[in-house]
Amino acid sequence: MRAVSLLEVNRLVVGEVERPVPAAGQCLIKVLVCGICGTDRHIYKGEYPSGKPVILGHEFGGIIEEVAAGSKFKVGQVVSIDPNIVCGKCSDCLAGRTAFCPELTALGVNINGGLAEYVLTPDSQIYPVIDGLNPLHLAFIEPLACSIRGLDLAELKGGERVAVLGGGVIGLLVVQLAKLAGASEIVLVTRQKFRREVALKIGATRVIDPKVENVEQVLSGIDVTFECAGAPETIAQSQEITRRGGSIIILGLTAAATKLEINPFNIVVNELRIQGSFLNPLTQARAAELVGSGKLNLDILISKVIDLDGVAAVLDAPPAEGDIKYLVCP
Ligand SMILES: [Zn+2]
Ligand SMILES: [Zn+2]
Repeated sequence: MRAVSLLEVNRLVVGEVERPVPAAGQCLIKVLVCGICGTDRHIYKGEYPSGKPVILGHEFGGIIEEVAAGSKFKVGQVVSIDPNIVCGKCSDCLAGRTAFCPELTALGVNINGGLAEYVLTPDSQIYPVIDGLNPLHLAFIEPLACSIRGLDLAELKGGERVAVLGGGVIGLLVVQLAKLAGASEIVLVTRQKFRREVALKIGATRVIDPKVENVEQVLSGIDVTFECAGAPETIAQSQEITRRGGSIIILGLTAAATKLEINPFNIVVNELRIQGSFLNPLTQARAAELVGSGKLNLDILISKVIDLDGVAAVLDAPPAEGDIKYLVCP
């Protein structure tokens, strides 16, 4: 089978590898689609730890091609995959904090993932989807599950003023989730014109171009700020625009070595809550269901569908103006 393997930092090869055979408790999935995201770029550049060599791709779904004897799954089922594998037995797993499991490994990060024609998947990671789902939408279930985690941490009750900093896939999913959660105002901040236009079509009530408007001057009193850019400047902005007693939920991933300044005085006297949101603990099933419900506009987020041979060029270049999500159909 063909696959995209990361051999070392900044070195990908597309080529033939042996097609795996499912052992007990595993299925072989024929990949229908795999999304490429910022984490893949961080892994590729050595800014996020990963195994090597490894087949990349952690946002994928497909059709069950082969099952082990006695499997509860059936050949031909269309499924989404939660790439994050945990032990299920440690104190963190038992408390629902599965992202902190010391045995956490991930398909497409530490073990072979979905940028391949086929991928071996433990049964515990498989979530069937409704019949007739647009197969391209399978690639959004994992990033949506991560976004749902951020919304859960924000505890929106309805009526809040929400700011979303960053207009990538996570930012644009958070806009839609905040709308479903009943936020009264949703402001999206991004430099990219196309992303601002998309945001207005899917629930943002206002958009801001930070190149034109000074975000810290024009925005204040925000109940919940979702930082979805993973940039020091937007994390700093979050601390200025969020109201006293408000929350800052950081979903954006910076490079592991990034440091930034905080103002502890402001955090104390304003009782700011700064909360990280990591991975998708126990949210994959809800994400699969929400994607199946058709309540989200996902087609508007798809920029281009490419094949395995196009992946290296996408990871080499920064995201182009007007691009949101690249999908790979192996
Ligand atoms: Zn991702
Ligand atoms: Zn565990």
